[in-house]
Amino acid sequence: MSDQKISVFDIYENLPQTNCKNCGESNCMAFAEKLLNGQKGIGGCAGLRETVFADKRKEILKMIDEK
Ligand code: SF4
Repeated sequence: MSDQKISVFDIYENLPQTNCKNCGESNCMAFAEKLLNGQKGIGGCAGLRETVFADKRKEILKMIDEK
């Protein structure tokens, strides 16, 4: 197990990256930052709930738990 710190980019890479603003943020990077800081929950990103993003969603959940 690595104790490497999770960066906002690690989270961003697993987001849909459509900048659709449905989460209330201006773009996915802003959402990634708030998710990392605990200011937003992963459920805030509707796109991430789509089946095609299931694996990426799991990756993010792992990162958030391990931080
Ligand atoms: S809802 Fe998800 S895809 Fe849309 S801007 Fe927010 S983080 Fe990005």
